[in-house]
Amino acid sequence: MAEPVEIAIIGAGMGGLAAAGALLQQGIRVRVYEQTEQFLRIGAGIQMSANAMKVLRALGLEERLRATAFQHRARRHRDYDTGRIQSEFDMLKVEGKFGAPHLMMHRADLHSALLSKVPMERIELGKKLIGLDQDDDGVRLRFADGTEARAGAVIAADGIHSVAREAIFGPEQPRYTGRIAYRSTFPAALLGDLDLGDVATKWWGPDRHIVMYYITAQKDEAYFTTSVPEARPDLESWSLKGDMDELRAAFADFHPDVRHFLAACPSAHKWPIYDRDPQRNWGKGRVWLLGDACHPMTPYMAQGAASAIEDAAVIARCLADAGETGLDQAFAIYEATRKPRASRIQSLSHLNKRDWMRADINAPDTAPKEKAEPDWVYGYNAWTDNLIKPELLETRAS
Ligand SMILES: Cc1cc2nc3c(=O)[nH]c(=O)nc-3n(C[C@H](O)[C@H](O)[C@H](O)COP(=O)(O)OP(=O)(O)OC[C@H]3O[C@@H](n4cnc5c(N)ncnc54)[C@H](O)[C@@H]3O)c2cc1C
Repeated sequence: MAEPVEIAIIGAGMGGLAAAGALLQQGIRVRVYEQTEQFLRIGAGIQMSANAMKVLRALGLEERLRATAFQHRARRHRDYDTGRIQSEFDMLKVEGKFGAPHLMMHRADLHSALLSKVPMERIELGKKLIGLDQDDDGVRLRFADGTEARAGAVIAADGIHSVAREAIFGPEQPRYTGRIAYRSTFPAALLGDLDLGDVATKWWGPDRHIVMYYITAQKDEAYFTTSVPEARPDLESWSLKGDMDELRAAFADFHPDVRHFLAACPSAHKWPIYDRDPQRNWGKGRVWLLGDACHPMTPYMAQGAASAIEDAAVIARCLADAGETGLDQAFAIYEATRKPRASRIQSLSHLNKRDWMRADINAPDTAPKEKAEPDWVYGYNAWTDNLIKPELLETRAS
């Protein structure tokens, strides 16, 4: 880099840690500031699709994740009451077609894997960002504990309620979608004779759904997530307890397997589901957003963390090239490369279509080109696909 600045990363979630690991790999100095005092193992599963796995592979994490995660054979859509199989997609094709597996895992296992790529002396816990100011030389960060820090530039990966986003663009509440995700992980032994099999099943009710699958290679931990209407959300929190009676009542007319599954589940957390429309700019000056901070999306395509991880790879590539282009241009290339793709996924995810993948992957040759291209989500490789060329950058409004 022309200026060997230290980059501050705000937030040690999936996006922040992936960015820290990727930047360190490029020889760029980073310091991560995370509000949490301690990382907790909250019960949630996560899917890492082939596009995300290609980045995780380049970070040296593929073998570790393959060893612990569950690789499902198929994704199945079923009627909520009769259990009729509406469609089934062969997930084992994914690896051959897109060059990486699609793995289901505990969120904490993914987080620990990413954390293993960032030395702890690079991470400051208990640092809740409350504000920032920038000048020509860099950025001053202010934290809730009264301390301050300076950095040459900032990558803000502080999630959907990003303080950094508000600092540079002003306040704007995310949109509550009117839906709740209950989620839990629990020992599969509690399921008794109910075997989820080698499939991830999405049960579709008239106005709600539930997805169930294993999240460990040994199939000894089960996971579910839901989308249930709820007019008014409680405050979003990673530790909001769900009421099990309410949850079971919400699925009382579902298939016996779903009811059995929820009866076995001892407890759940609930997440109000928020999103935003794609936003015009992802940063200003020396402060740039990444992950949910700039493109929060509903979870229906399982692409939120995957997109954050893609961002991490691209921003690391751009900053590694900044020796020739300078920081301003590096960030502009990052935004121009990432925004069209992330915005497209964000918009499609918002539709909560059951067949976005099926329609794309199994589309007949006669389908419109958009639908006949199966590759655009999973086929993407954030490490190798072209970055926007500097001469194609739009003139950005200041
Ligand atoms: C029900 C559900 C299921 C999902 N399933 C999937 C899936 O299968 N696959 C997938 O790819 N995605 C999935 N997602 C989306 C995914 O969880 C998010 O997109 C992803 O966590 C975004 O990562 P991030 O690093 O940008 O933000 P976050 O994960 O929100 O991390 C932000 C980090 O910043 C910290 N922070 C926040 N504010 C501050 C501050 N002021 N100062 C310092 N630190 C701060 C937080 O403590 C946190 O550590 C799902 C989401 C939901 C709700």
